[in-house]
Amino acid sequence: MFYFDNIYGKRILKSGLIQGVQAFFTTRDICICDKSLPPDGNASIPEIIKEITDNKKLICKYLKIEENRLVSPIQTHSDNIEVAEIGKSEYPNTDALILTEQNLGIFLNFADCTPVILYDEKQNIGAIAHAGWRGTVQKIAVKTVQKMCNEYNSTPENILAVIGPAIGFCCYNVGEEVLTQLSQTVSDFEGLSMQENDQIFVDLKNINKQQLLEIGVKKIDVCPYCSVCANDYFFSYRKENGTTKRHSAVLCLK
Ligand SMILES: [Zn+2]
Repeated sequence: MFYFDNIYGKRILKSGLIQGVQAFFTTRDICICDKSLPPDGNASIPEIIKEITDNKKLICKYLKIEENRLVSPIQTHSDNIEVAEIGKSEYPNTDALILTEQNLGIFLNFADCTPVILYDEKQNIGAIAHAGWRGTVQKIAVKTVQKMCNEYNSTPENILAVIGPAIGFCCYNVGEEVLTQLSQTVSDFEGLSMQENDQIFVDLKNINKQQLLEIGVKKIDVCPYCSVCANDYFFSYRKENGTTKRHSAVLCLK
């Protein structure tokens, strides 16, 4: 079950599935994505930078970590997975980050793409994956689980998965080509696409859920919010004509 909480009065979204560590999604109230800047030459850039910096400070205070210990990768719709390290702030060409350290926070940024937060309570490690349609075709969430299992002794049964706010089945229409590629990522694609007035819709959040179910992840919470329909809370690349603003998925271990 998802519910809204707040950080010093600014709205965030949480799932009751993951407890004991900090795992949440920011909303329009508290943007922390450095890439959320308008194109060059926009006079409001200094104010936006200040707002993002202030929001990051609030989140670090809330997470009880130092301000240089909240890191995010440069996302490129790849299937590259890195491990976050204290003292390392650059993660180029990376679409999933695994977190094994305490006192370190990670975040990835989204506007319609599907965020997947993973957490293994037993090993106390977690990860965030960025699964737009390209990441979903490449099964980035599955590959992240596999890396957690192969390198950090996790097991799929012990991993909790929270699939966050993203463009929903209601609004995500795609071409035949994308449908075909997505349909090949799972053995059971039943109910994950529909055709309406010559348009094809796919359920990206639940395709990610199905991929995870098929490798043995059992506890999965899927966010009901669509970034287009719930655009008052979240950013939408499609609804906002290619906005550069992003909400974020955030994770910090206990
Ligand atoms: Zn929608």
